[in-house]
Amino acid sequence: MAKSLTEQLKTEARTLGADLVGVADLQLLAGIETTPADLLAPFRYAISFAVKLPDTVFEQLVDRPTPLYSQVYQQANALLDTIALRLCSWIEAQGGKALPIPASLPLDMVNFTSHLSAKAVANVAGLGWQGKSLLIITPEFGPRVRLATVLTDLSLLPDAPLKNRCGTCRACTEACVAQAIRNVNVEFHYASREEALDFNKCADKLVREFKNLPLIEKPICGICIKVCPWGRQGRKKHDSS
Ligand code: SF4
Ligand code: SF4
Repeated sequence: MAKSLTEQLKTEARTLGADLVGVADLQLLAGIETTPADLLAPFRYAISFAVKLPDTVFEQLVDRPTPLYSQVYQQANALLDTIALRLCSWIEAQGGKALPIPASLPLDMVNFTSHLSAKAVANVAGLGWQGKSLLIITPEFGPRVRLATVLTDLSLLPDAPLKNRCGTCRACTEACVAQAIRNVNVEFHYASREEALDFNKCADKLVREFKNLPLIEKPICGICIKVCPWGRQGRKKHDSS
């Protein structure tokens, strides 16, 4: 029953436009910071889904975001929010409860925190691991994805978290335009984002510099996304190596 419902839900998410979808058991996220603090209480699972951004947009990045990257970033967020809304209707039609967590809705613009970390959910849902850049690295598309979440009380079959596969790669550490990445490896997830990244260095670059560039408007960068070999070469290369 749970298996077939989960398969139906994943098919629905893909039909709506998701490129990747997985289910996280919220018990594995016990203690995670949320806003409000009891956000997860009515729910048992979180559905994590991803929309891929076009490779060519990243190929054009040199040392800063471009207006085209800014545009596809915002379009992907809008598509993810539409998928979340439609998935909630689908879940309610099955008799379940559902809450959409938007792709990008920072509640705190200093610390960049939101209702719930989409990256933590994506890791537990088996979409990818948290790389040295703190991005979710998917085996299929590397970090070239945007993510959103739907919380639900439907009886689903959860996926298993992915172990970190960064290994000895230093590509994002060497390319970071703020020298913010510390090149620290972990098996599953970092104890805090400071363990992986000098967050203030990264945030300063994005908020004070990149966000003020013409036609950018959002605190985005894209360089550590561009250089990750999992995004550049995709699953085929890694499967055959
Ligand atoms: S987003 Fe830019 S500044 Fe921040 S870690 Fe990645 S490359 Fe460095
Ligand atoms: S560039 Fe290399 S070290 Fe950085 S997240 Fe990707 S695989 Fe990991």
